[in-house]
Amino acid sequence: MAFGPKDNGVIADTLRATSKHMLTTPAGFAFSKLAFIPTKNDLGLVNGWVDAMKACSPPHSRYLKGDPFDIALQYRNWILKHPSALTIFDQIVEVAKGKQIVMFLDYDGTLSPIVKDPESAVMSEAMRSAVKKLAACFPTAIISGRNREKVFDFVRLPELYYAGSHGMDIMGPAQGSYGLKAKGEKAVDGKGNEVVLFQPAKDFESTMDKVFTVLEDIVKKVNGAKIEHNKFSISVHFRCVQEEDWANLAEEVQVAMQFFPSLCLTQGRKVLEVRPAIAWDKGKALEYLLNALGLEGRADVFPVYIGDDRTDEDAFKVLNKQRHGLGILVSTAVKETNAQSSLRDPSEVLEFLQRLVSWQQAQASSD
Ligand SMILES: [Mg+2]
Repeated sequence: MAFGPKDNGVIADTLRATSKHMLTTPAGFAFSKLAFIPTKNDLGLVNGWVDAMKACSPPHSRYLKGDPFDIALQYRNWILKHPSALTIFDQIVEVAKGKQIVMFLDYDGTLSPIVKDPESAVMSEAMRSAVKKLAACFPTAIISGRNREKVFDFVRLPELYYAGSHGMDIMGPAQGSYGLKAKGEKAVDGKGNEVVLFQPAKDFESTMDKVFTVLEDIVKKVNGAKIEHNKFSISVHFRCVQEEDWANLAEEVQVAMQFFPSLCLTQGRKVLEVRPAIAWDKGKALEYLLNALGLEGRADVFPVYIGDDRTDEDAFKVLNKQRHGLGILVSTAVKETNAQSSLRDPSEVLEFLQRLVSWQQAQASSD
């Protein structure tokens, strides 16, 4: 779900009408929650937002409400449509056999468990070892909403491709990976390694710094709220905020956003994200990487994308449109998804990756 400047016209008009009451922030952007008088429509937008966040991030206890038989039945029907990638593993590798598998992995909730503090979302050594072996078998990329450098620090495998800020900050090893070299701008990363960079939102760097300063002031005032600067996107985390404060925080963020018409808001799992309003998402990053590696549009290529978030749906849609490859949603609950298959949690992701590596190693030794 994306909210752009068009949806917020009524709020912008309200702000303009009350501009004489506004305060000016150190960053030079004027806004004030006190001056904002929400109309019925505005409240609908904020409430709709909060409802959507509750729906996509239900706490564990909410799953347990209602008739357990109904819940189990719903899940059973859902799993029939989106079968476990472990259950249908043999069918998956049968289809992939003889093709170039390319692996795309989300980070949070896929390779690492979702934790309260986003700074401590570390990956287990078992998962790191599995991803390292995976990258030795197939071209492998991690596509995350986070700052690309932060994901790299968590994963610490230079042989992978990394796409941070929802794919707006792509980096790969200059010498290539698995015999494939990506096209892009040559650069040197913070650790002195030669890399290839592709940053479709490069012109937005200073705007992102400005909106971060404004949102940081808002977040400071809300208990439990956290903010992350992901270079080309900003995340406002609700994970540790009391549910009764969600609408207030969402409203404050929305009001501030009126002064950044070139940016838009999207919503993920207990997080609101500010990003450049350009047609770029995780699906575009997947397409870019396949193209840059010379693998796009080829019938002998089998891309696999594993992710748990709403933002991963853009990548699942691309795979559906291309009519090849496999989207796998990580979820323990019934969710609307464009993925064909599912895994319950990062421990099942680990098992799937390990089985894929073993299968590939067996294939290679029998050739
Ligand atoms: Mg995720």
